[in-house]
Amino acid sequence: MTEPEDPSRQRLKHHFAQRVIHQARQILEIWQRLHRSEWSAVDLAEFGEANLRLQRFAERFEQPEHVLLARSIGETLQKVQDNHNRLTSESINELNRLMHRLSRTGLRHGDELDQTLLPPLRKPIYIALQDFDRAERLSTQLEFFGLSAQAMESASAFQASMAERHPAAIVMDVDFAGSGVGLRLAEQAQEGLEHKLPLLFFSLHETDTPTRLAAVRAGGQEFLSGTLEASSLLEKIEILTCVAHYEPFRVLVIDDSRAQAMHTERLLNSAGIVTRSLTDPIQAMAELADFQPDLIILDMYMPGCTGTELAKVIRHNDRYVSVPIIYLSAEDDLDKQLDAMSEGGDDFLTKPIRSRHLITTVRNRAARARNLKSRMVRDSLTGLYNHTHILQLLEDCSFRARREDKPLCFAMLDIDHFKQVNDGHGHPMGDRVIKSLSLFLKQRLRKTDFIGRYGGEEFAIVMPDTDLEAARLVLDEIRERFAEINYPAQPQDFTCTFSAGVAQLNTVFDGLNMASRADAALYLAKGAGRNRIQLAD
Ligand code: GH3
Ligand code: MG
Ligand code: MG
Repeated sequence: MTEPEDPSRQRLKHHFAQRVIHQARQILEIWQRLHRSEWSAVDLAEFGEANLRLQRFAERFEQPEHVLLARSIGETLQKVQDNHNRLTSESINELNRLMHRLSRTGLRHGDELDQTLLPPLRKPIYIALQDFDRAERLSTQLEFFGLSAQAMESASAFQASMAERHPAAIVMDVDFAGSGVGLRLAEQAQEGLEHKLPLLFFSLHETDTPTRLAAVRAGGQEFLSGTLEASSLLEKIEILTCVAHYEPFRVLVIDDSRAQAMHTERLLNSAGIVTRSLTDPIQAMAELADFQPDLIILDMYMPGCTGTELAKVIRHNDRYVSVPIIYLSAEDDLDKQLDAMSEGGDDFLTKPIRSRHLITTVRNRAARARNLKSRMVRDSLTGLYNHTHILQLLEDCSFRARREDKPLCFAMLDIDHFKQVNDGHGHPMGDRVIKSLSLFLKQRLRKTDFIGRYGGEEFAIVMPDTDLEAARLVLDEIRERFAEINYPAQPQDFTCTFSAGVAQLNTVFDGLNMASRADAALYLAKGAGRNRIQLAD
C-alpha cells in the first residue's frame, strides 16, 4: 500500500508530466515538419536530439510509457544512422507507428497513478454555464460520447479546478457567475500559460460584436450561442483538441530493372516516402489492392507489356481511376511523351531524374490525389465513408482476413422510427440525430474499425479481427448508451434507438454476401421489435 500523497506533491508530479507531454508534442511537430522538407542529416539529428530530451525528461519524471516510446524511437533512429542515414520503407513505417502512439499519450492524464492498469482516460472538459443544471446535463451527455466532463458550480469552483488540473478544453458561458464575468474568468485562467487551452465561449442569447471581440481577446477559439447540444459541441472540441496527423505517402514503383527500381525507391525513402517495387508488371493489380498506393511510378518500356498498356489496364478498374501515374523513362521524344500521357498517365519524368524534381512531383501529385480521394469517399453530412467506399473496404478487409485467417464482422445499423423524428421535429433535427450517431460511433468504436454511412439513416461498420460475439458486445453497449442521449425539443426532449444486424465472414460467402446477410439480420431485428442487435445465421 502506498501512502496517500499530499496535494502539493501531486501538483508537482502533474507539472512534470506536463513537461514530458510538451516535449512529446515538440517531437510530433518536428515529425510533421520533416514531411515538408528533405530529411537531411541535420533534420534527422534535430529529431534525434529532441527525442533524447524526451527520454531524459520521461526518466527523470517517471513517465514509463514515454520512456519506452522514446527508447523505441531512439533505436529506430540508430538503425537509420547505422544505415548511413538512409531511411527505408520499414524505418519510416516504424517511426510513423511510434508517432501515432506518442500522439495518443499526449491526450491522457500524465498524473494518473497505476496508469497502465486503467483504460486510457482523457483529460476532463470544464463546463461553466449560467445554468448549472444544464451544465450537468451536458456533462452527462458528453460522457456518453466517451469524454469526461465536469460542470462548474461557481467561479471559485472553476478556479480551484483550474489550479488543480488543466482541462482538455473549457466551455465558458460569457455570463457565467455574473454578467460578463465568464469572459474575465476565462481570460485570467489563460494568463501566463505557455500553451493556451482550447476555449469555447457560449452565450444563451445572440450577442453583439463588442462581446464577440472580447471573447476573441480572451482567447476564445469558438463562439456558440442558442441551444448547446452535446454532439455539435463534441465536434468543435474534437477539432480544437485534435493533433493533426500525417501519414507517409505510399508509392508503387513498377520497373523491370531492379537496379532502377531500387534507385527510385531510395530517392523517395530519403524524403520519408514509403515505397514498394515490382519488376513483373503482370502482378500490378494484386499489388495495388494490397498496398493501396497514393501514386504509381511506371517504367515506359518493359518486356511483357509497355507502361502505357499497363496504365490502361489500371484505369479500367474504377478504384484506380484517380491514382496518379507518373511515367519514368529515358524517352525524350516529346511526341512519344505526349502520347503516353494521353494514355492514362499524369506526368512524364525523363531519366536521369534529379532527386528534388522527383520528390516534389511525387509529393504534390500524391497530396492532391489524397485530398480528392477523401472528398470522393466521404459522406458530406457525417464525414463517414460513403456507401461505395465502405463496400470496397469490406472487400479489402475480407481479402486480408482470409489471407491472415482472422475473423471479420460486418454490421448494418438503422435508426428506429426515424420518419417520426423528421415528421415531429423537422428535417434539420433529423440531420442532427444522424450526425450525433455518427460521432457516437466514431468515439466508441476502435480506430481499426471502418464506419460508413450506408444510406439516409443507415450505417455500416467493418470490424476487422472481431468475431460475432465480440461484435455483439460492442454494438450492444453502443446501443444502450445511444438510447440515453436526449435531444432537446418542444414540448419535451426525445431519445432515439437503432437496430443492427451483424454477419461474420466465413469460408462459404464472400464480402458482398456478408452485406446481404447483415441486412437480412437487420430486417429480423426490426421485425422483433427494434432497439436490438441481431446476429446473422
Ligand atoms: P424503421 O424503424 O423501420 O427503420 O422506421 P424508419 O421510420 O426509420 O424507416 P424508413 O426507412 O421508412 O424512414 C427513413 C426516413 O429517413 C425516410 C427519409 O425521409 C429519412 N431520411 C433519409 N435520409 C435522411 C437525411 O439525410 N436526413 C433526414 N433528416 N432524414 C432522412
Ligand atoms: Mg431505413
Ligand atoms: Mg430507420
